[in-house]
Amino acid sequence: MRKKKRWIFTAAAAAVSAMLLVGTGAAQESGADPSNTDVQEMAQTDGKVSIGLEALSEKTTELLSGEDAQSAGENALPTGEIAPPTGEISPPSGWMGPTVVIDAGHQGPGQDMSGTEPNGPGSSEMKARIVTGTTGRTTGLPEYELNLNVALLLQEELLMRGYQVVMTRETQDVNLSNIDRATIANESGADIMVRIHANGVDDASVSGALCMVPSASNPYVGYMYNECGTLGQCIVDAYCEATGLKNDGLQEVDNMTGINWSQIPVTIIEMGFMTNEGDDLYMADGNNQQTMAAGIADGIDRYFQQ
Ligand SMILES: [Zn+2]
Repeated sequence: MRKKKRWIFTAAAAAVSAMLLVGTGAAQESGADPSNTDVQEMAQTDGKVSIGLEALSEKTTELLSGEDAQSAGENALPTGEIAPPTGEISPPSGWMGPTVVIDAGHQGPGQDMSGTEPNGPGSSEMKARIVTGTTGRTTGLPEYELNLNVALLLQEELLMRGYQVVMTRETQDVNLSNIDRATIANESGADIMVRIHANGVDDASVSGALCMVPSASNPYVGYMYNECGTLGQCIVDAYCEATGLKNDGLQEVDNMTGINWSQIPVTIIEMGFMTNEGDDLYMADGNNQQTMAAGIADGIDRYFQQ
């Protein structure tokens, strides 16, 4: 019985993955200028945070074990349950998807905020190791809580879709600088890094989601401009399609320590403006956070289909 249940879950996960892999047009809405988004402000609120490297989950292997799928497939399924997968969606035994680092921005209160660190490898420009994020102007929700909520949902979603996931943090009580976060990603052997943040500006009318990526002339990571741009575009488009939030497209930024130290394609998704009432109320809702995570996962699927 246990095996059968596992198979059903496997089949469901495989079917979902297959649908996601098939059903993606490259909707290029973007283009929207992230007007009014204040880079300075974001630089301040962009105090990426966090915790230690998490062990890779073994869930993927278990879920996608071809052996289980085959043996369980011999059992007749009651009417109404998921049909056995057809051959094309059965991954080979031992198949492991790409590895994604999820970095939930910022950290809980009580951390030492005094240190600084170089803005890029070899740079003499120093920036704060850790900064406080923004806060929901209407809901009062701290950005660090929103970021971690969505990051944990995204972790779950990606594991279900067959990815391997590395989390920079899974709790609020961490003291991770932006370099620390990039280092976790660099040393993990992961394929990409997705950094989860939300935006804040004085002007309450500014709304929408955007992805931050380095420019082509970034002295540290400009060589990854195309990959980062593609990653950011895939994620912001899929995210906005899923959530219905305004698509502010890509924003090129070269002063983000956690991007400048990365050795793998990276983007920061700013999921919306917590200083905008509509965005704030939307993002604070638990059901919507599930949709947000699924939208980001859709964008990651698209990136790996490119
Ligand atoms: Zn932030």
